[in-house]
Amino acid sequence: VQSDTSPECMMAALLLRRDKKSTAAHLKSDLNRTDNSSGVRQLQELLDSVLNPEKPPADTEALDWCKCLIAGEEGFEEFCKTVRSYDNATLCGLVWTANFVAYRCRTCGISPCMSLCAECFNNGDHTGHDFNMFRSQAGGACDCGDSNVMRETGFCRRHRLRTGENVPSVPRDLLLMSEMVLPRFIICIIQYLRDGYTEPDTSAERDLQKVLQQLEPQITFLEELTKMGGAMRTVLTKILTNQQTFKDLSMGQEENVFAKKNYENYLSALKNSGLVSVEEKAQTGAAEPTRGSETGALGLLGAAAPSSSESNKEDQDGQSIGQRKRVKLSSSTKDPSIMDSLKHKCFLEELLFWTIKYEFPQKMVTFLLNMLPDQDYKITFTKTFVQHYAFIMKTLMKSQESDTMSNRIVHISVQLFSNEDLARHVTEECQLLDIMVTVLLYMMESCLIKSELQDEENSRHVVVNCSEALLKNNTYWPLVSDFINILSHQSVAKKFLEDHSLLMLWMSFVSFFQGMNLNKRELSEHVEFESQTYYAAFAAELEACAQPMWGLLTHCKVKETQEYTKTVVRYCLETLQIWFDAIGFVDELAPNQVTFHLPLHRYYAMFLSKAVKCQGLDLESLLPDQEMLMRIMVHPLQIQASLSEIHSNMWVRNGLQIKGQAMTYVQSHFCNSMIDPDIFLLQVCASRLDPDYFISSVFERFKVVDLLTMASVHQNTALDGEQERPMLEGALTFLVILSSLRIHLGMADDEILRAEMVSQLCMNDRTHSSLLDLIPENPNPKSGIVPGSCSFEEMLSAVADFKAPVFELGGSMQQGMYTPKAEVWEKEFDPIMVILRTVYRRDVQSAMDRYSAFLKQSGMHTTGNPWPPYKERTPLHPCYKGLDRLLHCKTLHIVIFTLLYKIWLDHSNMSEHVLCMVLYLIELGLDNQVEEDKGDEVRPSEHCHDSWFPGTNLLSNLHHVINYVRVRVPETAPEVKREREPPASTSAEASNFGQNVREAQVFSLVAERRRKFQEIINRSSTEASQAVRPKSSSTRWVPPGTPPQLVTEILEIHESMLSLLIKLHQKLSAKQNSLSATWLEDMDANPNRHAHGDGITAIERILTKAATRSHQSKRSIQEICGKVFPPVAPKKNSPTAKKTMDKEERRQRARERQQKLLAEFASRQKSFMETAMDVESPDTEAAMDLGASEVKESEVLYDCVICGQSGPSTEDRPTGLVVLLQASSVLGHRCKSDEAKKLPTTDEERIYPADTCGAAHDVRLALMQSFFKDSSCLQSVSIGWDGGVYVQTCGHTLHIDCHKSYMESLRNDQVMQGFSVDKGEFTCPLCRQFANSVLPCRPGRSTEVVSWHMPSNKKTSVLVKEVEDLQEQLGFFPVSTTTESNLSKEMELVIKDIKNTTQRKYMDYGKNPGSPDNDFLFMYSVARTNLELELVHRGGNLCSGGASGAAKRSCLNQLFHVLAMHMRLYSIDSAYNPWTRLTQVPCVVPYSCLDDERPDVPMLFRDCPSLLIIFVLTMPQPLRKEHFICLVRMLYNLQYTQALAALSAKFSPEERQAWSTSGTLKKCPFNTICALLLCFLSQLSSSVWSPQSIEYSLQQFCLPYLRLSCLLQHHLYGDNLSGCPEEEEFSGLAGCLGLLDPAPQPSNPMYSASCLDWTVSAFDLMSQWCSEVTGLADTQTLLVQDLQWASPHLLHLPDNYNTIFQYYHKKACTACKKVPKDPALCLVCGTFVCLKGLCCKQHGICECVWHSQHCGAATGIFLLINASVIIIIRGHRFCLWGSVYLDAHGEEDRDLRRGKPLFLCVERYRVLEQQWVSHTFDHINKRWGPHYNGL
Ligand SMILES: [Zn+2]
Ligand SMILES: [Zn+2]
Ligand SMILES: [Zn+2]
Ligand SMILES: [Zn+2]
Ligand SMILES: [Zn+2]
Ligand SMILES: [Zn+2]
Ligand SMILES: [Zn+2]
Ligand SMILES: [Zn+2]
Repeated sequence: VQSDTSPECMMAALLLRRDKKSTAAHLKSDLNRTDNSSGVRQLQELLDSVLNPEKPPADTEALDWCKCLIAGEEGFEEFCKTVRSYDNATLCGLVWTANFVAYRCRTCGISPCMSLCAECFNNGDHTGHDFNMFRSQAGGACDCGDSNVMRETGFCRRHRLRTGENVPSVPRDLLLMSEMVLPRFIICIIQYLRDGYTEPDTSAERDLQKVLQQLEPQITFLEELTKMGGAMRTVLTKILTNQQTFKDLSMGQEENVFAKKNYENYLSALKNSGLVSVEEKAQTGAAEPTRGSETGALGLLGAAAPSSSESNKEDQDGQSIGQRKRVKLSSSTKDPSIMDSLKHKCFLEELLFWTIKYEFPQKMVTFLLNMLPDQDYKITFTKTFVQHYAFIMKTLMKSQESDTMSNRIVHISVQLFSNEDLARHVTEECQLLDIMVTVLLYMMESCLIKSELQDEENSRHVVVNCSEALLKNNTYWPLVSDFINILSHQSVAKKFLEDHSLLMLWMSFVSFFQGMNLNKRELSEHVEFESQTYYAAFAAELEACAQPMWGLLTHCKVKETQEYTKTVVRYCLETLQIWFDAIGFVDELAPNQVTFHLPLHRYYAMFLSKAVKCQGLDLESLLPDQEMLMRIMVHPLQIQASLSEIHSNMWVRNGLQIKGQAMTYVQSHFCNSMIDPDIFLLQVCASRLDPDYFISSVFERFKVVDLLTMASVHQNTALDGEQERPMLEGALTFLVILSSLRIHLGMADDEILRAEMVSQLCMNDRTHSSLLDLIPENPNPKSGIVPGSCSFEEMLSAVADFKAPVFELGGSMQQGMYTPKAEVWEKEFDPIMVILRTVYRRDVQSAMDRYSAFLKQSGMHTTGNPWPPYKERTPLHPCYKGLDRLLHCKTLHIVIFTLLYKIWLDHSNMSEHVLCMVLYLIELGLDNQVEEDKGDEVRPSEHCHDSWFPGTNLLSNLHHVINYVRVRVPETAPEVKREREPPASTSAEASNFGQNVREAQVFSLVAERRRKFQEIINRSSTEASQAVRPKSSSTRWVPPGTPPQLVTEILEIHESMLSLLIKLHQKLSAKQNSLSATWLEDMDANPNRHAHGDGITAIERILTKAATRSHQSKRSIQEICGKVFPPVAPKKNSPTAKKTMDKEERRQRARERQQKLLAEFASRQKSFMETAMDVESPDTEAAMDLGASEVKESEVLYDCVICGQSGPSTEDRPTGLVVLLQASSVLGHRCKSDEAKKLPTTDEERIYPADTCGAAHDVRLALMQSFFKDSSCLQSVSIGWDGGVYVQTCGHTLHIDCHKSYMESLRNDQVMQGFSVDKGEFTCPLCRQFANSVLPCRPGRSTEVVSWHMPSNKKTSVLVKEVEDLQEQLGFFPVSTTTESNLSKEMELVIKDIKNTTQRKYMDYGKNPGSPDNDFLFMYSVARTNLELELVHRGGNLCSGGASGAAKRSCLNQLFHVLAMHMRLYSIDSAYNPWTRLTQVPCVVPYSCLDDERPDVPMLFRDCPSLLIIFVLTMPQPLRKEHFICLVRMLYNLQYTQALAALSAKFSPEERQAWSTSGTLKKCPFNTICALLLCFLSQLSSSVWSPQSIEYSLQQFCLPYLRLSCLLQHHLYGDNLSGCPEEEEFSGLAGCLGLLDPAPQPSNPMYSASCLDWTVSAFDLMSQWCSEVTGLADTQTLLVQDLQWASPHLLHLPDNYNTIFQYYHKKACTACKKVPKDPALCLVCGTFVCLKGLCCKQHGICECVWHSQHCGAATGIFLLINASVIIIIRGHRFCLWGSVYLDAHGEEDRDLRRGKPLFLCVERYRVLEQQWVSHTFDHINKRWGPHYNGL
């Protein structure tokens, strides 16, 4: 309250009281005057009192005032419209939040982040582009019109035309008021924000959400303003960026206490905004940062680096090291001012500041982003954002809701940094790169721990702690993603690469990840807690290290950028050196440790690779000295050895997670950032280091050195026995990979892509998307838009064939697959690449199995198991030629020799795989010769193994014969004994013995490696003239004390590699002298023979190669082959040795056997299915068609599938059929038209349900009930069109008591079965089909059957009488209820089951619920439903004849029997028995004279098929066929009369008159009757009829009755259904039923009439029937009924899924009026429902389930709009069916993740419809689950 009474104040008070609108108008005119000072003053005063920040913001009075003032005299809405008409924006800029559906086109995008709103996308032309739809996660904005982000060709029509540029300029006065009012409004909001803010650490209650909620209307208003288009945005930009306004309004108003207070609040909030807060700065001082405290970590931001004395001090202070370690960043000092606390100069800056403080409220974000189309704003805003960047990340780290906040941050930053110009601009002006790198460092610093790698005690290296929330929750990703985003711009990346201090800083950042997540092998006990930190570690290395690396590498592709690469390489090496020093690594690795994270190594490797491959740099100039190379080699090599250890189960005690790491390391998303660089780096090392040293290091690291002895027994200190073989295999495989892989050593990018693709396809057939996912991203981006890169699609079509999607019978939905072409298998299958890329070991086997299958199929190799083919390699890039020396070194040759020897002698732990790899190495050596290096020979020759081989060349060493070898063996070894007694040989040899001992060779790998290492060290140390070597503890190299029990023995060998190979050939082929002396000559003829084959082929190939390349070898081979060998050594057959050798082979055989068994089993199961469903089988025939004429004299026998016994079904021990009862509305959904209804996709289209069969019958029944007696009505119709019960069987039978105990056992079975035993559900014990009841079989002898069939010559009238008599017996049946047998009990039980199958409402059609009439109607309708459904399954008619597939599932005969038993409970009053009225002219009571009750239904309105079923079911069983025929005949009379009546009702009076006298009609024997009938009825119609059309429509009217009768006869009496052409169906059926002489009567076209057979005067009877209907209302409606229905269809779907999606994904539900979160669509009727929505839940049932009950009687088929998938609901269960929409590659896209265009797969949709119509969802689909009414 103010006491001021100045006139101005009065004026304001006056204005306030006036109506807002007129005030606004008044002020506006004042302001428009030339002298507007008074207007200005008045406005200011008004605003002073209106916009008072002391008022609570919830009071919207102020907001209303602002709106009015801005709008002036016209309303606000009107004003908005006007302003919008001046919108001059040329960009779309639409901002969206999470879950919005947007598009991305890679063809049009310049930035990979480009995105479009649906409207712009659909209005642009992207045909043939690589685009996809996606659901936004972090929110985004439309880039249409922004040529910085996307190509102009992709702009939509509107933004391409730049319509905005032609907009007239804005009239001055339109926005005048806005310019004046809005600054005040904004400062008011700011003041609220200032006032409401409290720091998180203050004790005061902090509720930022509440503050925001109160401000909601104000911020919404700001957002509304931004949507008014360019004109308003210009005004806002001016206000937001004007420094003067800010100055004036922000801190003035000293007199206002409130304003002052919140300004102070603002200042204090500001103080904490930098990375270094003001207090911290003051504390740390200028130059000397204090250490040890919290702020120590921030020292890197200060100017000074910690001095060395300080780090010494830290070393002593053990505790501080344990927790934190400050990083040395001496040269990294960047301008610290960038991290200073903030100073604001305009509204925008402060608004952003508060946006951050309030943790990015959605509305504020949208407001700030909506302004972006204004270019001036965009630039200022970007700068402001960068200015606050450090502060943003600091807030993020502290936030509780970091996920949401991350999304909002990226939502903003991606709009700013995707634009190269803008990004470069802020990089140059605002030091964006420095800020980002510094903040990254700052972030990671918060979670550093001391590295335990190598020297746990004294390590000075620090690594990130992967269990910290920052890493586990990936909190750093917004920052990293921004960083990667800006590095994608060449200009920015160059800035980065040119800035050396930044690079240094970056390298120290990368080193935080070097050696993180260290694994220590557990040796004694299983680890208690399996740490899952490895996810965080792998993600961090990939995202924070590798991704930026790939980003930088894309800019180092040409010669011009050589310098960048050199710099990076230099800093990598420097940082690596620092790392080695810090962890205290000299030369020996600490045992049992491994880390998978070596980002520094990998940076070095990848830049090296690029330098050689693309920039033409000389490798030599980038390599360090030998010693450094040796060190660099150690850790990557350790990873390779550990991989092998992990797969050899040496790490089992560390739990499953270690396997997870091994798998992730090679997995497709990681491999080219991890294993590939590692292998490459090792290849580089191998090519430069001494090969003997390298080879021995490998075997030592793999711990198999002890194994490499010629002795038969050895000791191994490092490995358990069972680990030796896998580790040896691992070492050899690694050597093969190392020396054959060319990924970075010479392969071109498209060769690599091809190899990757081939290896993935060889493992398994792949879908397009999974292949895309499995191919590593680098070096080839997956979409082929980058100019010059080869296309994924082109490559795919070159190597693979497409297999179209199919639906398998078992129910699994096949997708479109790619499979390798035959020539790919033949020429390109590369087992080495497969091994490198397999995550699961079984995939290697799978590839080999597929390869074998291909060879067998193509006849290339048919015997035994083929070996992996040897593939020739791409030539090495000259830089890496040194790698071949690996294959030409004595050490390797000694190993090869030893292994060949051991394999030949069947030593333990040798395997086929070992031999395979050994041969591979030999072959590689032969194919990659090195030029003899003269320098090599200069070497001093005192080495202990030099006597093994003369040189290093493999070719010459191959034929070199080794005579004696000195080995060290345990005293117990067999060699010892043998050697003790000198060899009993010729004296000449004996004399030589002494000499031999001297020349015998001994070989020790370990000693070898150490010697070599020392040699190199010494050489380099002399070179570097360094006196002191690092503490290379040479004392540790002394071999461990030799176990005393070892003795040295000398083995007599006399073999060369060649001779061993030839012996192995004999061994493998199990033939002496398998190679004749002349075989080499034969070989030359056909060199291709060797491409594929087994081990024998491989040896032959090697021998041939050796022979062709060296004469000496050739001679040697011929010589050896020419010798006659003694019989094969006996030890070969020693059982124990045999065991080891053949282990692999036996395993393979076992696998084959198992597969064969499985296949057999599968085919057996399949044949079950076939017997059950399709194929005629005597067993099931007997069970199903009891009445079949084939049945012999004997009683019918049933097999019980549970106990296996076979016997008759008896009253005491009944047998039953396994049946599935289900309610069905399929019949009710039939329509008149054969065309499926179209699914509506616009608001105009609609589906009308009235014309369905179900609806039509409901109407008819209701109409009849309104005129006639209810009980009579219920006898005159059928129900069950909707919700009828369908009974089907798999055809298997069981004893009912066996079934009961089976159910009991299921109940006790705790395993989840997917069905509910309590509801009686089970699966057939034999065929596993789903079932829920058992239908008892009628006991019976087939003699009865025969008697039924007796032909009879009785006259019709006699039969009619007999039938009548039989019906008289209705009351007293022979099998009465008094003697209740087990059988009759079971029959009643199944009746109960049938009733429980459907809902009450589908049974109670009568007016009195629960009356027996209802029950009666339901019972006979069950029979009708099953007959009608069978008709549908047969295609709607009986023309095809015979037994269809569907008929095999039917059990109508048994069902009829059960129903008949039940129907005995009812009796029909004989007075009302329709039989009488059907066959006699009543003489007693005139029909209409009954009491006041409603009349019976007239005969002409009754449904003949229903009457037939009623008669059959209510007469004594079994019914004789002659009586059945009699029934059919009598009812045909009625049906025909109904047809005539219906027809005549359609005639015009004139026509009727004409017809009654016409001559044409005279041909008909009953013309008079017809004529008479026509006269009875007088209705109007205008159609013209001919005799042909009359006969046609009469037949059509009667056909449904005939079909049903015929089908019934088929089931009851087993009569065959004979097929016929469709146009002869009538006569065919009439003949079949005996209504018509079988002889054709072509002369009489009116043969429908000749089927009539009357026992009384037809004229009298028909007159009687007609009289019943005369004078009744609605006669025509009831007479003229259409009995023909088209076969049922699901809705017709559009071809393109987008049509459905666009219409339905944002459509509101008609029930709850909201847009559902999970919309779904009923494919039967088109109803749109809220899946899972609580909004539409009623009585605890969600809408989808509810609809399934009402639309499909508990069966529902729904399309989930947002997932493109179909789900099936069946009762209480549901299953995911799959999708009927597939992409161009025949693949589903569940949940629309890929967002590629989807098209209707007609075949699949047909399958779905087929399953629906045939009621086989339960049988075909697997994986059902309960839905608990929650769908
Ligand atoms: Zn747009
Ligand atoms: Zn557009
Ligand atoms: Zn495009
Ligand atoms: Zn049994
Ligand atoms: Zn079965
Ligand atoms: Zn529906
Ligand atoms: Zn709904
Ligand atoms: Zn709803």
